[in-house]
Amino acid sequence: MSETSIFRVGDGPVQISRQQLQRRVTELGERIRSDHHDHELHLICVLNGAFMFMADLVRAIDLPLTVDFLSVSSYGSRTESSGEVKLVKDLDQSLKGRHVLLVEDIVDTGLTMQYLLGYLRGRGPLSVEVVTLLSKPSRRVVEVPLDYVGFEIEDAFVYGYGLDVAHRYRNMPFVTSQSEA
Ligand code: IMP
Repeated sequence: MSETSIFRVGDGPVQISRQQLQRRVTELGERIRSDHHDHELHLICVLNGAFMFMADLVRAIDLPLTVDFLSVSSYGSRTESSGEVKLVKDLDQSLKGRHVLLVEDIVDTGLTMQYLLGYLRGRGPLSVEVVTLLSKPSRRVVEVPLDYVGFEIEDAFVYGYGLDVAHRYRNMPFVTSQSEA
């Protein structure tokens, strides 16, 4: 586990530019590389929201690594968590004997992360750590351990850079909470 300096986005609408995202992903990649230089990492991307973050992050980690993908549903097309988490796509590879780094787009209530950590730990990995691009600490319902956090943000619904509103806007290269983006 490592100390992670957290970039806070202040009051007002959340706006994280392409350049800020690039800089922070590079920092996270360097931090992860220096914390894990003595073993191989297995990165697991939580689809769909983390696909863009994952693609940039793996290129920022200068280490041998492997990747896998899973998908859960908790929101449907609404913007409020149902609290129910369902596995929609399972992993393709075994976790036995591996150091796992779970790659998530955003931790809101923490319910999805709590489910995912329980699921992954039950599959025999040597270790499980978490990197999330975004975190909304004020929304937390359950405490979950986050090893690497890109940006802490206020309570606002955000989209772009992989995150969606009803399946749209994932291709925007920046993150925003403004509806006129
Ligand atoms: P949690 O279970 O409440 O922590 O929610 C986690 C999941 O909800 C994330 O993986 C996202 O898919 C979705 N989510 C939470 N907040 C947002 C948001 O502001 N924008 C887009 N998706 C979100």
